[in-house]
Amino acid sequence: MNISIVGAGIAGLAAAIALRRAGHNVEIYEKSQFKNEIGAAILLTPNGNRILRKWGFDFERARPVDFGQFRFVHGESLKVVIHEDFSGVESRFGDRMCAYHRVDLHTGLRDLAEREREGWAPPAKIKLGAEVVGVDAEKGELTLSDGIRVEKDLVVLADGCHCPFLLDITGENTPSVKIGKSVYRWLAPFDKVKEHPVAKQLWENQPAGFCSFFNDNGIFMVTYPCRNSELLNCAVFHDTRPDERDKDDWNANTTHEKVLEALEGFSDAVRNIPLTTPHMKAYTVTQRPPSTRIHKGKVLAIGDTVHHMLPTHAQGGVAALEDAAALEVLFDSSRFAPTSPPSPSTLEARLKLYTTLRLPRSATMQILSSTNPRFTMANLATKNEEIRKFYQGDLIDWPLGCTSWSEPIREFIYGYDVFSEAEKAMEFRERDDGKVPDGVLKWFGEVDEKWTRSEYAGLA
Ligand SMILES: Cc1cc2nc3c(=O)[nH]c(=O)nc-3n(C[C@H](O)[C@H](O)[C@H](O)COP(=O)(O)OP(=O)(O)OC[C@H]3O[C@@H](n4cnc5c(N)ncnc54)[C@H](O)[C@@H]3O)c2cc1C
Repeated sequence: MNISIVGAGIAGLAAAIALRRAGHNVEIYEKSQFKNEIGAAILLTPNGNRILRKWGFDFERARPVDFGQFRFVHGESLKVVIHEDFSGVESRFGDRMCAYHRVDLHTGLRDLAEREREGWAPPAKIKLGAEVVGVDAEKGELTLSDGIRVEKDLVVLADGCHCPFLLDITGENTPSVKIGKSVYRWLAPFDKVKEHPVAKQLWENQPAGFCSFFNDNGIFMVTYPCRNSELLNCAVFHDTRPDERDKDDWNANTTHEKVLEALEGFSDAVRNIPLTTPHMKAYTVTQRPPSTRIHKGKVLAIGDTVHHMLPTHAQGGVAALEDAAALEVLFDSSRFAPTSPPSPSTLEARLKLYTTLRLPRSATMQILSSTNPRFTMANLATKNEEIRKFYQGDLIDWPLGCTSWSEPIREFIYGYDVFSEAEKAMEFRERDDGKVPDGVLKWFGEVDEKWTRSEYAGLA
């Protein structure tokens, strides 16, 4: 097939890699010039890194930092109140849990999308400065801002959470809404942070990972290292100030004064961290409820376009990789025989199968991520009813005291192997009329019976 992809973020680049591997010609339309790539980090859990490994991603060049722990630390006393040990995660799930500088991840994905590879379709063509202003779903046609129209066999919409075309695709009005929280963010030189004698003690001889500080007024500061531990990624979640309401892109500037005001009462070791770097950024956090329809005509929406979620479980980018991996299996050109490109009815059937495979999983992650705007998991127990609207498989009896990083949650999320689930979906399609019976796909891998009972006392 000839395929257009709108957007070259994680979802768009990953889809280009996957669809090349599936034998298709891909063209990406990206409105930016990539000059303002985001100076921030991103954690990929094993269910995401498993996909990168299969694609031959160059981990060495990307220099991610493996996570060994999560520490939830009182910002004033620096007492560790919750500790999660991640040391067994890689052996349990067969892949890494590691954080990347976003630019390094993006560079690695772009390399895979654009470089000649044996056995893959030709390199993706990425058109920068190409803003898409119109989408005709029935024709598979894009209109660019300079008036040029491009018609292809399939359009993958990966233009992120502000997508103006979603209503036309889904028929549902599900705009992103502000949750009342904003974030101050920056990357600090980690060596400089550790020049503070108390900060040095906090990180010296410790496994890498989250060190998150909180106070009793709802301020929550997440930190973790990236790029060979040269940089410390920092994000301070706080109640949105009136002047921050419209800062919904990632690159709005803010001041050290505002950051220090939010961190009032925190230990000097924490308050010193923003002072190690000159630039502070701010943005306002948004989320969206799940859509029930994600394709129309020749258009399929993936990534944040369709499942924009809060960052509580580090699954937004990972879900975009999973979407792409599902495309690789379901749209494998050799499985479209005898006709390639597929007939309209075959394409429609494959898009429906994609929805059956991916929507329950991505909607569940959206719902879980919205558990509580204070980024704890306190309201988890109330979520199953909402999740049931999308997902009929095994569900955990969410244990009391469970955090986003506790073992039951890890089992639930990281055990999912999108490649094998997509293969199962294809087996059903090839065996009968394409209908996958409810509960056949184990959306979350093997859920151990012990997590479906309420006996887990871990952190209660
Ligand atoms: C604070 C925070 C922390 C996070 N942490 C994690 C984490 O640790 N792990 C994780 O997995 N996820 C995390 N996420 C989520 C993750 O960042 C997103 O899910 C992911 O980046 C979405 O990628 P995307 O490609 O779908 O969208 P985007 O990154 O938004 O990419 C969309 C692309 O489309 C382009 N575009 C937009 N409109 C047009 C148009 N009309 N024409 C052409 N091009 C267009 C844009 O320029 C952009 O390049 C976090 C999110 C936040 C906010």
